[in-house]
Amino acid sequence: MSYQHQWLDGSQINLPVGKAVCVGRNYAAHAKELGNVVPDAPILFIKPSTSIVPLSPSFSIPSDRGSCHHETEIAVLIGQTISKISVEDVPAAIAGYGLALDLTLRDLQNQLKKQGYPWEVAKAFDGACPLSPFIKPEQFGDVYHTEFALTVNGEQRQRGLTEDMITPVYELITYISQIFTLEAGDIVLTGTPEGVAPLAAGDKLVLSVVGQRFETVVV
Ligand code: ZN
Repeated sequence: MSYQHQWLDGSQINLPVGKAVCVGRNYAAHAKELGNVVPDAPILFIKPSTSIVPLSPSFSIPSDRGSCHHETEIAVLIGQTISKISVEDVPAAIAGYGLALDLTLRDLQNQLKKQGYPWEVAKAFDGACPLSPFIKPEQFGDVYHTEFALTVNGEQRQRGLTEDMITPVYELITYISQIFTLEAGDIVLTGTPEGVAPLAAGDKLVLSVVGQRFETVVV
């Protein structure tokens, strides 16, 4: 694996690449677009470190397993090992913020959900988590009031406002840490807003957050 966590200026972050703990249905409008009910507690799943690849300059999608959807999400880089942490202690454990694509083989996921089977083959495959460089927390600003967006071939597909999260970032990390120890170098994906749709080879994507633009191409 050639992926290493990086800062915006391309310098390497001195943290290992760990797992990605992800939340499903953290934006009510997205739960609704897929015909899902809004859950009482966060729905968690994990993508392994082997699913993480650089977002730019390009990434690939499986071509033989049905539709592959983009889910644009705020990614939080964990800077120190935390377990059963309180909300007040979360900010000190965050090393940076970036954007991730939670790539999802939607046809396969729908089939697995219908059969009551786990989702991993639809969400945890090699390359299923393209990840941007990270922005330091002081530069990122207030993660409770952050806008982010995805355009595909010049057309806006997704726009998220973190104030619409059902479980906000610090509370989400607190909840996750009751169940899974988060280690330095792990990331947390905080859920996708509405507008998920299939990707195709050749699509040109621009992901943006706090004045930063990450351009990439599907190959
Ligand atoms: Zn997602």
